[in-house]
Amino acid sequence: MDQKFKLLLVSCCAPCSIGVIHKLHQDHVNFTVLFYNPNIRPFDEYQKRKEENKRICQELNVPFVELEYDPENWSKATQGLENEPERGKRCEVCFQLRLCKAAKYALQHGFTHFTSVFGISRYKDFDQVCRVAQAVSDQFNLPYDMTNWRKGGLAEQTIKLAKEKNLYKQNYCGCKPRPSKSPD
Ligand code: SF4
Repeated sequence: MDQKFKLLLVSCCAPCSIGVIHKLHQDHVNFTVLFYNPNIRPFDEYQKRKEENKRICQELNVPFVELEYDPENWSKATQGLENEPERGKRCEVCFQLRLCKAAKYALQHGFTHFTSVFGISRYKDFDQVCRVAQAVSDQFNLPYDMTNWRKGGLAEQTIKLAKEKNLYKQNYCGCKPRPSKSPD
């Protein structure tokens, strides 16, 4: 592993990120977990997800950073997109806002790469996440690791670990409840 390599992993919650965190830790990657999620509401829910994410990092001694919770900023950015479906335009803006903040933090703190677990859930459009991430990467001139964390057995491992650790698992992404129908 390149000694200078320093990865910022943007996480939305523990059940989405536990498999990736365990894998990176096992592979001795120099990484930090960043929690910037102004999209999560209400605040109690935000706190629950943050504490669970922090807990799994502490267990492995992985650095965990929380940035400010500024839901007003998120609401302003997504204004007018309230009725968009999940995977639609609102998600694009939401990813962009959070990844831009992460890229700025990464550059200010000496990270050489960044990535996220935004595309790991089957409810998400992985290509949409990659498109946004590539644009942010170009804007900040910071490489984004495009690994598809759903592959190579990691999705199954993530579910297994979440059960083993008895993680709190929400039934919606962040901004509003999901309709009952599951994606393909
Ligand atoms: S569904 Fe999730 S990713 Fe999409 S806008 Fe809401 S919080 Fe953001």
